[in-house]
Amino acid sequence: MTPPAVAATLGCESAPVLRERGQREVFCGLTGIIWLHRKVQDAFFLVVGSRTCAHLLQSAAGVMVFAEPRFGTAIIEERDLAGMADCNEELDRVVDRLLTRRPDIKLLFLVGSCPSEVIKLDLSRAAARLSVKHAGVTKILNYSGSGIETTFTEGEDACLAALVPDLADDTSDLMSLMIVGALPDVVEDQFLRLFAELGITTVHSLPARRAGAMPPVGPNTRFLLAQPFLGETARALEDRGAVRLDALFPFGAEGTTNWLHAAATAFGIDEMHFRRVIAPGRERAKRAIAHSAERLAGKRITFLPDSQLEVPLARFLATELGMQPVEVGTPYLHRRHLAQELALLPAGTIISEGQDVDRQLDRVRAARPDLTVCGLGLANPLESEGLTTKWAIELVFSPIHGFDQAGDLAELFARPLRRRDVLKV
Ligand code: SF4
Repeated sequence: MTPPAVAATLGCESAPVLRERGQREVFCGLTGIIWLHRKVQDAFFLVVGSRTCAHLLQSAAGVMVFAEPRFGTAIIEERDLAGMADCNEELDRVVDRLLTRRPDIKLLFLVGSCPSEVIKLDLSRAAARLSVKHAGVTKILNYSGSGIETTFTEGEDACLAALVPDLADDTSDLMSLMIVGALPDVVEDQFLRLFAELGITTVHSLPARRAGAMPPVGPNTRFLLAQPFLGETARALEDRGAVRLDALFPFGAEGTTNWLHAAATAFGIDEMHFRRVIAPGRERAKRAIAHSAERLAGKRITFLPDSQLEVPLARFLATELGMQPVEVGTPYLHRRHLAQELALLPAGTIISEGQDVDRQLDRVRAARPDLTVCGLGLANPLESEGLTTKWAIELVFSPIHGFDQAGDLAELFARPLRRRDVLKV
């Protein structure tokens, strides 16, 4: 039960990266609001954007009907775009109206979009101005979810990075642990229980479930990234003195073990105690994964760049399920945060960063992998060419972290192959 080797030599740690720039097929950062608004229960996300932005949010959120929604769009109309109205005055009016009607909102994010950036509406100044006005009642922050040169998980990174400068100073002499990344509550609770059993007593989450419960930060903070797409947030935390614990991401039995082990080592937890505490969860995960192993072992898989989860998921599928990654594409490759993951990918895997969608599809057609993980817009055309696909965005919306979700995670990849086999019969 040894945590996976950290410095495997046959991996892709120093493999050349195929960098591409061209037409891309990804959602924009506004999409993150769909899972962030569920996480921080007294926050509101006000997108300052166009009707297109409102439609994106509405369709990404499905047909949810809220009595009191926690996101909305302040529509920039044509006369705003033409400079015929004072957008700042209008924005102040919208915010005043919203906060008067909804005193339960304790944290308001003004979320920038392509249109607000085109007209150079300075939302950081607006947030500072409105914060003074609503001081003591509602905190007002801003970030950009704009689609220009971004991918959809960057929305969460930008949102969490916006929270960091506002976190209180941690003045305690004792080390504390911070889990960074929006996890479903049930998964977060599982991790909190494991850390408590290990004997790590002070554990916070960023984001917290309530605006008033955001964690303090300082040189005694050790943090674990729960998501691989939080580069800006990590940098902001490091600027506040916090120290990142290097680990695999908590996907699968091995990834979760390694992630927990990084914290246990930093907090001086006895190795035998660590093994005792994690053994039941780790065994459960291995048993659950084994259900899908038969279908997935030896199958070839390509990831097109979409969610930024691609590298850790490819590592999980290669090391725990015996799949063969053909190409692992990711919108941005954060080498430092992904070093251990890359080291465990089979040598010879093509690692690509960015996207030139036509060239990438040509490579998929030439390689004809058993499974292609891609965005919604590419899945149907590929299926019509006889290729089996998996929607990348489903992996962001599903609980996939930790021991107890490892079986479900494997199953998410096994299901399209099973469906393909059934259709063939
Ligand atoms: Fe479209 Fe930009 Fe609005 Fe996203 S932010 S929905 S890319 S206009």
